Amino acid sequence: MNDVGKSPGDDGSRAPQSQKATVERLTKAREIVDLAWRDLPPTHRALLEAIGADKFDVVDQPLGSTVNALLISAGLSVAALDEAEFDDSVGIWIPSLRVMLVNASHESLDGLDARSFEAAIARIAWHEWGHALRARAITT
Ligand SMILES: [Zn+2]
Repeated sequence: MNDVGKSPGDDGSRAPQSQKATVERLTKAREIVDLAWRDLPPTHRALLEAIGADKFDVVDQPLGSTVNALLISAGLSVAALDEAEFDDSVGIWIPSLRVMLVNASHESLDGLDARSFEAAIARIAWHEWGHALRARAITT
């Protein structure tokens, strides 16, 4: 560990600590989704790639607002999208963007040990990819 990048007056207590925990959780979740992708049956993986559904991202914020921002920046804003409804979701599949998102900071993942966290993230990813193989609407 070194102090490079620390701001003046930063004593390393609460705020930076929780920020570090958030970054570690996000990094871990990304690794797990990556592994979950490689654990998919090759035929399913090929199918997802063929329909362009092999993109995914792990974020640390509510999914409703994240999805809205993505849709708007892609010029696909849907006025009717209820952010609150999707903010409760831990995973989401967005057909119009062909992307699957996981919210690693979702409260349902709080306090899980490493094993349970890994199982939960992998299950979410597989569930959403299952939707990708079928669904034409935004699903969680
Ligand atoms: Zn679902």
